[in-house]
Amino acid sequence: MKYLSTRDASLRYDAAEAIVMGLSREGGLLTPETFPVLTREMLEAMLPETYQQRAVKIMKLFLEDFSEEELREFAGKAYAFGEKFDTEAVAPVCHVTRGTEVLELWHGPTCAFKDMALQMLPYLLTASLRKTGEEKTACILVATSGDTGKAALEGFRDVDRTKILVFYPRDGVSEIQKLQMVTQQGGNVGVCAVEGNFDDAQTGVKEIFSDEVLRKELGDRGYFLSSANSINWGRILPQVVYYISAYCDLIRGGRISMGDEINFCVPTGNFGDILAGYFAKTMGLPVKKLICASNANNVLTDFIETGVYDRNRPFYTTASPSMDILISSNLERLLYLLSGSDAEVRGYMESLNKTGRYEITGELKGKIQAQFAAGWCGDDDAADTIARVFGTEGYLMDTHTAVAYTVLENYRRETGDDTLCVVLSTASPYKFCASVLEAMGTKELLPGTEIIGQLEEKTRTTAPAPLKDLAGRQVRFTETVNPGAMTDVVKGFLA
Ligand SMILES: *Cc1c(COP(=O)(O)O)cnc(C)c1O
Repeated sequence: MKYLSTRDASLRYDAAEAIVMGLSREGGLLTPETFPVLTREMLEAMLPETYQQRAVKIMKLFLEDFSEEELREFAGKAYAFGEKFDTEAVAPVCHVTRGTEVLELWHGPTCAFKDMALQMLPYLLTASLRKTGEEKTACILVATSGDTGKAALEGFRDVDRTKILVFYPRDGVSEIQKLQMVTQQGGNVGVCAVEGNFDDAQTGVKEIFSDEVLRKELGDRGYFLSSANSINWGRILPQVVYYISAYCDLIRGGRISMGDEINFCVPTGNFGDILAGYFAKTMGLPVKKLICASNANNVLTDFIETGVYDRNRPFYTTASPSMDILISSNLERLLYLLSGSDAEVRGYMESLNKTGRYEITGELKGKIQAQFAAGWCGDDDAADTIARVFGTEGYLMDTHTAVAYTVLENYRRETGDDTLCVVLSTASPYKFCASVLEAMGTKELLPGTEIIGQLEEKTRTTAPAPLKDLAGRQVRFTETVNPGAMTDVVKGFLA
């Protein structure tokens, strides 16, 4: 199977090449040329299997240049129970109330759904480097506003032939997120604070990537720079697995029968997670609607309802920060797959670049609306949902999951569609203790890591061990630099 660029379909690559490249050279995203078919027999065979076994089968369909044996080793390590994930199920489906199930994607080492892909990516990337004959060591550079940096650090920690360096904005991450990063363990990792906000850190990293002199110098020392960005195919593919795995678990739990259609409701930012659901649906998983949930940054809701994508609007800082995004990069893959035209996509993306806006054809809009629904809700409604669902069902969720849960309730009221729905839960409530406590009416929040115990006491639930352990962890990284000094940090890190 080949991978095509969404902006020039004559450019075709093997899976390993696509994973090493990340982005096609003219800016397009690498997307499968065809979709493997998921038959009923395949689903049936997966029913008794573990998450790891299902992952091998599903990923193998897309990775012809990888052996099953390789993938078994990767899945075994990436999703190891005990060492990496705190539940044997890896991504358990939790029954909340009649017709509503929650797929918990935060049982990995950093307690957010980014682990599902970033635990697997390092293995896919290092194997791809071997397959394409690259002999240098990869240095992964990340500018992070929170969840991605920590998940990438944990994923690449002590992985052979890689080093990872994360820059975070000194004034732009939560106390818990900062502690998660500065206490990072591993022999190949580096973490550095940058004075300024996320844009300053991100601009610095982009400048390092385009610094040809630096690249040459690092190349002579045996390194090349790479990124762990969510547009890499190696980050999307592992996410297809949990949609299919959840369907199997629902059958096994007697909630549905083989062939029944279900809905998924997904808290969305960069459109990577829900796109993986679309891939599963395209392969033949019985899915009726994919419901795209946004917070006040509701550019996707408007797009799916009207066919106009317009980023010219205020940017809101919300209680679900990982969804505070106005350009959802992975949407481009959906536009290509549904229009079948690289020229059309190129036009839309040029327009987005120039004017911040594009309008799709009526035909394309119809195709999107046939498979997707969309909705959004504000912080107050999401907070009410956290308190209410905890009160009535005893189920505690984080702010991102609460946005999806609220959007699902609204969708049901408006459409009357009461198909069983799986809500994707993307973070542990303990990653966003302050917002969750406030939602439940707590006025005085304890400082630092004490807030974790405060939420435990309030809800009589238990925090994930990696977050509880933070209090006793030694701080390893204390450096703060000007954006202008980031290049020197990279040189020092790779000296
Ligand atoms: C990244 C993230 C999202 C958004 O996922 P996309 O793939 O970018 O749409 C939602 N919730 C949490 C907690 C995240 O970290």
